[in-house]
Amino acid sequence: MAFERREPGPHDIVMTITHCGICHSDLHAIDDDLGNSCFPVVPGHEIVGVVTAIGDEVDRFQVGDKAAIGCYIDSCRSCGPCLSDRQQMCIAMIPSFNGTEKDGDHRTWGGFSTNYVADQDYVLKIPQTMDSAQAAPILCAGITVWSPLQKWRVGPGSKVGIVGLGGLGHMAVKLAVALGADVTVFTTSEAKVVDAMRLGAHNAILSNDGVAMAVAAGTLDFILDTVSAQHDIDGYIEALRPEGTLCLLGIGPGGLQIANLSVVFGQKCIAGSLIGGLDQTQAVIDFCAAHDVMPEIELVPLAQINQALDRLRRNDVKYRFVVEMTTGN
Ligand SMILES: [Zn+2]
Ligand SMILES: [Zn+2]
Repeated sequence: MAFERREPGPHDIVMTITHCGICHSDLHAIDDDLGNSCFPVVPGHEIVGVVTAIGDEVDRFQVGDKAAIGCYIDSCRSCGPCLSDRQQMCIAMIPSFNGTEKDGDHRTWGGFSTNYVADQDYVLKIPQTMDSAQAAPILCAGITVWSPLQKWRVGPGSKVGIVGLGGLGHMAVKLAVALGADVTVFTTSEAKVVDAMRLGAHNAILSNDGVAMAVAAGTLDFILDTVSAQHDIDGYIEALRPEGTLCLLGIGPGGLQIANLSVVFGQKCIAGSLIGGLDQTQAVIDFCAAHDVMPEIELVPLAQINQALDRLRRNDVKYRFVVEMTTGN
């Protein structure tokens, strides 16, 4: 499919896209699960590439730099969220795909494409030594789990639960472990119990194992629920200590039932979190580089993207597909 991006302006960079991760929200957009897809849609919001041109006033990037674009490419820049590094909450936030540019004339097209034009202020820096393919999932999966881990001050001594071991969950395990937390993974898959331990978790529980769930009850300070599909969260609410927090990240269709008695009597919190701000996204990229926390990826050529999407629909990926858009790195 051919489309045109807007003409680069003085603050813009042009980047050739080398890699783009496949996120569950790309599937939601393709399947119009949220009812807001404006077809045709070019998804892809874990975008990594190389800067090939810069506008006259660009001072953060040079031609040849590695660069990345996440879930949004602009916002109003003056509201409370924008001024406190929560651009994702700005009502004028412009998504990197399935949106409309500030000029009102051009749609935004995602990363499963050859190049991107964006204002330098909304472009992330990728360390030149970082593998571009592995960097891609940090742009959505990484920041989505990093932001709540920071907000709820997860660190040494924290007892953290991670529900679901997929693209988000496996990054949550690695990041929480790197932050010094004691990490328990909840999964429905016996194979993933083994994998969770390999990824660094201190404990892994089959969520349909009633005995193990009873042992875990009341033990965790904070639980990050990364599951996108409808599922039963009562057991995770039970696993929280009094006044603990369960943070939801999934945006799948349908709803979740909440065990209100356990929430009320335990004074527990049910929270949500959505990606993260620009500075926070740069922070997680830099943290991953400094601590060698890298996503586990399956690299697929562009010609196989549809097979990869089908496999993701079946949760058949360890743990993130990254599409190789060019032969560069
Ligand atoms: Zn995403
Ligand atoms: Zn704003």
